[in-house]
Amino acid sequence: MTKNGGGIGPGDGIARRDFIGGVTGASLMALAVKPAAADAAVPAPQTMPAPDPALYPPIRTGLRGQHPGSFEAAHAARDGAYAGGVDATPTGEHYDLVIVGGGISGLAAAHFYRAALGEDRKILILDNHDDFGGHAKRNEFHADGRTILSYGGTMSIETPFPYSYVSKALLAELGIQPSTYPKYDRSKTTYAGLSRGIYFDKAHFGVDRTVPGYRSRPAAQFFADAPLSAAARADLIRVHDAKVDYLPDLDPVAKAEALKTMSYQDFLLNKVKLTPAALPFFAGQGYRNNMRVDTCPAFNAFRSGAPGFQGMEIAHQIEAEAEHFHWPDGNASVARLLVAKLVPGVFPGAQTQESIVLAPADYGKLDDTANPTRIRLSSIVIRAEHIGKTEPTTEKAVRVVYSRDGKNLEVTGANVILACFNNIIPFIAPEIPPEQKTALAYPSKVPLLYTNVLIRNWQAWKKLGVYMLSCPNGYHQWATLDTAMSIGGYESAASPDQAVVIHMVRNPNQPGLPRKEQNRLGRWDILNTPFETIEKEIRGQLDAMLGAGGFQSKRDILAITVNRWPHGYAYTYDTLGDPAVPDAERPHVIGRKPFGRIAIANADSGGAAFTNVAIDQAHRAVEECLVSRGLT
Ligand SMILES: Cc1cc2nc3c(=O)[nH]c(=O)nc-3n(C[C@H](O)[C@H](O)[C@H](O)COP(=O)(O)OP(=O)(O)OC[C@H]3O[C@@H](n4cnc5c(N)ncnc54)[C@H](O)[C@@H]3O)c2cc1C
Repeated sequence: MTKNGGGIGPGDGIARRDFIGGVTGASLMALAVKPAAADAAVPAPQTMPAPDPALYPPIRTGLRGQHPGSFEAAHAARDGAYAGGVDATPTGEHYDLVIVGGGISGLAAAHFYRAALGEDRKILILDNHDDFGGHAKRNEFHADGRTILSYGGTMSIETPFPYSYVSKALLAELGIQPSTYPKYDRSKTTYAGLSRGIYFDKAHFGVDRTVPGYRSRPAAQFFADAPLSAAARADLIRVHDAKVDYLPDLDPVAKAEALKTMSYQDFLLNKVKLTPAALPFFAGQGYRNNMRVDTCPAFNAFRSGAPGFQGMEIAHQIEAEAEHFHWPDGNASVARLLVAKLVPGVFPGAQTQESIVLAPADYGKLDDTANPTRIRLSSIVIRAEHIGKTEPTTEKAVRVVYSRDGKNLEVTGANVILACFNNIIPFIAPEIPPEQKTALAYPSKVPLLYTNVLIRNWQAWKKLGVYMLSCPNGYHQWATLDTAMSIGGYESAASPDQAVVIHMVRNPNQPGLPRKEQNRLGRWDILNTPFETIEKEIRGQLDAMLGAGGFQSKRDILAITVNRWPHGYAYTYDTLGDPAVPDAERPHVIGRKPFGRIAIANADSGGAAFTNVAIDQAHRAVEECLVSRGLT
């Protein structure tokens, strides 16, 4: 199991927090993968015919995630286009439950509703994207006769707190056993001898250089190879090595409280007395929930394993992490397993945590009139409102209007669950009381690009001695070879001569501004940057980072999929940017109150960006639906 941001250790894969969080002090020296036996067998490549992109969205490349065509009508609703009401053509369809959002939360809500009231209940799931799963998005490539998978969003089952009974029970029902993960993970052998490195870019460090062995080699050795001034080098070695108590007058509890009131940047500059010349090293790196050095409370940086705290005794609660499980397409496999259970005919028969990896999906069956549960994609909901009375016996209680192919269409439901984003809810459900609307408007999701670049081979990485690169100040701040896996007949590249996906993460920020404002501007940035510009940045960055290893983007890039998530991670509170109030007064708690027959699910309503939170919130919302109809 991956421990709190540690790197690859025995049985561990590349974990989500390796590139969004940091590295624990405890695992500093454990990052480099131990060399494997030289004769590790290269598995035979699996073959699967390449599906038609017109019929099978996961294979589409270019701009994915919140792709063009998936959000414009919702933005029109936000901008007041339907303030006077929405005209729509009735479809005549009525459902027991209409769910807005086909992410993990919406799919889980359908599952719980069926479990409570029966599988014959009529359920319609509407989602704005051309694929289901929300953030849990599958990216699929075909090259050299192999199927090559990656994740366009949600990477893993992994949470810094345990899964609830509800979430664990759902995983069990889907046949997912997180404890079995080590048997599928091949990273330790495939990337044997490679380490995490840092890419120092010319604009900030005077020269382009990739240096391997960050926190696996002694700091003095690592920074000796880095393009830094003597003063910056000495200070960075000190921050990483020195065991100094920078708050000597405070006891451990007071230290923790003090660190919650200052940013990591302020801690480094004012307490550690880091030379400002060394700050660019920390500037582009993300700490938990993609907070940056200027917006991350120093306490959170400490909990992420960031350097500087090794000589300090700081009070903190021991976190019991959830078990870690990763599929080649991330938690898209969870979404696919849910769909396999909900909608007959999409996948061939019953699926397991292994078979789902390569199972073909027939998207034509998602919205089949023959099935009680239907999933309708490319359908942007612009209105959910009560039609009249909501007595427990009222059937047609809510009207839902969605925009599809330029038409506004209407269905009715006895219940509606909004499993979408909190920010859009006030605009599509205008009956909600003003205080609740204010609460729903409070969070500011973290904007992200999850970019997958298929390359011909990974010889350059091998030559440079790295499998993962942190790129302070880079356009993308992280780049990593995709987790090596063998599961359900799927074999990822075992040899550096084989094609592999480089997974890159961009989190645009505007240093100096409050975190929510940085998120807002980052959202604007990625929504307004055309694919061509992003592609140019990707090519330039990969050439600069890997050129010394022989990489040439023109020759070596086979495909690019940019998963654009302006509304990415759910907003989480922090001690610098949010008032300290009791949980019951938090905006996500006020915002998620049920309203008549309308209930609210999704990760925002749990105030944390995790799969289990999305599941737990779905369960709560279903309970509220049952209560609203006296069905408990
Ligand atoms: C890049 C990324 C990586 C992540 N990695 C992890 C991870 O490794 N592990 C983890 O536990 N969590 C991770 N998360 C958090 C992730 O958000 C949750 O795990 C979970 O998948 C959220 O599910 P959801 O259903 O609440 O929201 P979403 O996945 O966002 O699904 C909501 C759906 O509703 C749709 N929608 C919104 N408005 C409308 C409308 N008006 N009409 C119709 N549809 C609408 C949305 O577009 C979306 O498809 C990650 C998130 C992101 C963005």
